[in-house]
Amino acid sequence: MIEIRDLEKIYQMGEETVAALAGVSLTIERGEHIAITGASGSGKSTLMNVLGGLDRPTRGTYHFDGEDVGGFNDDDLADFRNRRIGFVFQSFQLLPRLSALQNVELPMVYAGLPPVERRARAAALLERVGLGARTGHRPTQMSGGQQQRVAIARALANAPDLLLADEPTGALDSQTGQDVLALFRELNAEGLTLLVVTHDAKVADQARRRVVFSDGLIIQDEKGARS
Ligand code: ADP
Ligand code: MG
Repeated sequence: MIEIRDLEKIYQMGEETVAALAGVSLTIERGEHIAITGASGSGKSTLMNVLGGLDRPTRGTYHFDGEDVGGFNDDDLADFRNRRIGFVFQSFQLLPRLSALQNVELPMVYAGLPPVERRARAAALLERVGLGARTGHRPTQMSGGQQQRVAIARALANAPDLLLADEPTGALDSQTGQDVLALFRELNAEGLTLLVVTHDAKVADQARRRVVFSDGLIIQDEKGARS
């Protein structure tokens, strides 16, 4: 599904250049569940942002289902992000003035889904993540774990091919984090391709494949059995 080759992302900071990605190649098959680990600053978030179309690489190629993402113009890229990628962040990134239902509806608004359909789908997704009784709550009226579930429902709104999660349990207590991970495993079992950045060994253990970053490079790529 995904093929990246010799990906580089160079940041110029005054006199200094930082290679956030220093030549990364990676192939991801549909249905995989991959954990990405590595020290802070090793390039994990930069990779997620490039894969998700939030950022463009300095060099290298990125193909998604055979399409050259590097050749997309800004509109194509926004459309790609909206329809094919789901994003989950450590800090949830929900809009505080919107209800849970409205937060989940938002990607479908951008995709042009009619109101009746998107409301029904948002409600079904909230039900799916265990929040069917809280669709009218705002983020501030919910716990961290509940907010992350809303964020996951939102990420699933347009039935993405790939879910990218950057430290999704980083702001949660360990039990709540485990619940979120259990939800990820279910979604992966239903066929969703999942990439999770984490520095929590417990989170990494959930994935069938573990990719380790160091200084902008992949130093380990291990396809082991899930424990
Ligand atoms: P990680 O997610 O593994 O902690 P990042 O991908 O966020 O690492 O960052 C990789 C490197 O790139 C770090 O050295 C970081 O300081 C640098 N970096 C990331 N984003 C920017 C940016 N917008 N401008 C300059 N440097 C950046
Ligand atoms: Mg990061």
